[in-house]
Amino acid sequence: FCFCNRKGKTPRRPPPKKPSNNQKDPVGVYCRVRPLGAEDVECCIEVISNTTIQLHAPDGLKANRNGEFKETQYSFKKVFGIKTTQGELFEDVAKPLVEDIIHCKNGLLFTYGVTGSGKTYTMTGSPGQGGLLPRSLDMIFNSIGPYQAKRYVFKPDDKNGMEVQNQVDALLDRQKRDSQTTVPKTPTTRRIDPEFADMISPVEACKADGVDEDSSYSVFVSYIEIYNNYIYDLLEETPIDPIKPKPPQSKILREDQNHNMYVAGCTEVEVKSTEEAFEVFWRGQKKRRIANTQLNRESSRSHSVFIIKLAQAPLDADGDNVLQDKNQVNVSQLCLVDLAGSERTSRTRAEGSRLREAGNINQSLMTLRTCIEVLRENQMCGTNKMVPYRDSKVTHLFKNYFDGEGKVRMVVCVNPKADDYEETLLVMRFAEMTQEVEVARPIDRPICGFAAGRRQRNQAFKEELTRRLEERGGPVDGGVCVCLLQSFPPLPPCEISGPNDDVTLPRLIEALEKRHKIRHMMIEEYNKTGKIITLFRAQDSNLLSKENFIQEQRGKLGEKEKMIQNQKNEIDRLEKKSRMLEYKIDILQKTTNIYEEDKRSLQQELESREHRLQREMSEKRRMETRMQGIVTDSKLKWEKECERRVNAKQLEMQNKLWVKDEKLKQLKAIVTEGKTENRQPQRPSREKDKVPGEVFKTRGGGQAVQFTDIETLKQENPVAASRKRRSSETGPDGEPMEGDWTDVETRCSVALEMRAGSNLGPGYQHHGYPKRRKP
Ligand code: ADP
Ligand code: MG
Repeated sequence: FCFCNRKGKTPRRPPPKKPSNNQKDPVGVYCRVRPLGAEDVECCIEVISNTTIQLHAPDGLKANRNGEFKETQYSFKKVFGIKTTQGELFEDVAKPLVEDIIHCKNGLLFTYGVTGSGKTYTMTGSPGQGGLLPRSLDMIFNSIGPYQAKRYVFKPDDKNGMEVQNQVDALLDRQKRDSQTTVPKTPTTRRIDPEFADMISPVEACKADGVDEDSSYSVFVSYIEIYNNYIYDLLEETPIDPIKPKPPQSKILREDQNHNMYVAGCTEVEVKSTEEAFEVFWRGQKKRRIANTQLNRESSRSHSVFIIKLAQAPLDADGDNVLQDKNQVNVSQLCLVDLAGSERTSRTRAEGSRLREAGNINQSLMTLRTCIEVLRENQMCGTNKMVPYRDSKVTHLFKNYFDGEGKVRMVVCVNPKADDYEETLLVMRFAEMTQEVEVARPIDRPICGFAAGRRQRNQAFKEELTRRLEERGGPVDGGVCVCLLQSFPPLPPCEISGPNDDVTLPRLIEALEKRHKIRHMMIEEYNKTGKIITLFRAQDSNLLSKENFIQEQRGKLGEKEKMIQNQKNEIDRLEKKSRMLEYKIDILQKTTNIYEEDKRSLQQELESREHRLQREMSEKRRMETRMQGIVTDSKLKWEKECERRVNAKQLEMQNKLWVKDEKLKQLKAIVTEGKTENRQPQRPSREKDKVPGEVFKTRGGGQAVQFTDIETLKQENPVAASRKRRSSETGPDGEPMEGDWTDVETRCSVALEMRAGSNLGPGYQHHGYPKRRKP
């Protein structure tokens, strides 16, 4: 069955099993304070207990912004002062995570802080002072050392899974590798690079308990860098072209069938010892340094992620080979993340494209902060806001951890120097918030091998041996019996030399008697001891049960004490939180008051403005009505005036018409009189109505009238009138046109004129012309 099922033909795993327990643990946040640098004098952090630090604003800052900075305290799961050794830190922070990975649980550990605060020192360490990474590797290999599978028995597939190869395939792979590379076969005999030899100190070797001896283990490591939101594989073996170096290719994130995120196509190197693993790490580190120099990157702005994967699978029934069943393989991983410096961009001297990159990296830290914030809010307020893991590669890669795939721990590194004070404040705030986020506790996933392994078989063998020994009479009690046995006299020579030999037999008799006596004594002793033993056994069992009882009670007491301690801690934490919240409420209250005050004053201003506006409006309306009044008044006035003028004009015109009529009448009278000889000219009756002309006596004895004025008074349509006027003005010889000879007045006046002109002769002709015309 096993053979048929090998080589990745395993059925798909069932849909992801999310942790079924509801237990949650807060993210473990630890704080490490590094020693003050030689050039710094002012220290603004004080460790006041092993869980609390106090921040003091530097003098310069306090003077600048008086009163703004208070002395603030921050509490963590544990605070590590400047004297803390790398070993002590490892013991508290990383050891439990290594124990977890061996017991099939995942872990995430990251260092957070501003540049120069000791993140890399904490994670990697320095020669003689190995950090969490080399120590974790060391502990893993110390624990699983003898139970490691042969190389290539476990083989990562390219989908974040792990396959099991049979011995033959693994051997073939090993041979292939040996022929391709010059790497020596056994890593233990390898010469250790002096650059990192000091980082792993075997003196402090520690080991995890409860390693399953019936399982086989293998360690794989990957090392990636996230820069400017691009993922680079630091272990990828690319041929180096010294003339035209190719820029590194970025990798993408994928989700495996269990919904865990992984870097697709990332190199996973199988390592068999701490030295080998650390060498691989160092290789990646070198590559990172070279890339940073070649591409002119700011190294403090990149995140580095070292992933330790532990594959384990049960051994088969013989205890010789790994069970050839992919479903029995368990993979757990520990991610060690050295985050980019958390400082804001303004703090670095980055320019141009580097600044842009820096902004992006800050962006991913910002996303981390946002994710933590949303997680906390969701947990505290029971909301279900979407956590924006996908906004950056860092958070996307570790999303599963926050969803309950493992323990999360963070070491907040701080430099107590005054220059860092403001950034440190932000770091502290983030750390405090992170502590409030709870992550589901990963469930225990024991390897469920159905075959009996080595340990069971060994146990069975031991039991069988005891049983058989007991069958043979059981173990004999030593002590007295041993003494008696030693004093058991040997038999003397019993050969009789002759008939007179009277020595041999008595000596033999004596010896036998002695032996008989001793035998008796031994039987007695044996019986006595047996009785005592039974007595002892009875008492022993009595005692044992009492001891068991006491032990049990002690255990219970211990548990209770632990519970009390936990509750005390919880109470402390809650008290602190409530104090903080009270403080926040206080501030909020003050802010509310200020806003309230602002609101009131604004409302007042609004009201006064409204009043003013209304006043202005009414003023405007009044003005409008007044203006309208004036307009109507003047309109009326002018209408009246116009009417008056029209009337006056009408009257005047009527008057004139009347005068003309009168004149015409007179003229008619004159004309009729002219036809009659000797007729006396009528004298005008009124001064006003005198004839506008003079009467002469002609040479022929007649009379002639010379008009000083001729006026045509007639009502006609304006077109005809204007035409007529035009014709009278523009006519070449003053003759009116034919159509105008219709009315009597005109004909008369023209006739008169003609006659007068002819009578007076050419010299007088112009006198007959009107001197002045009225329009
Ligand atoms: P980061 O990675 O946060 O930028 P580093 O780890 O590179 O900071 O630390 C900067 C310097 O301070 C290094 O020279 C390092 O050796 C030193 N340093 C940091 N933390 C400690 C510490 N706890 N004890 C001694 N030296 C430290
Ligand atoms: Mg660093």
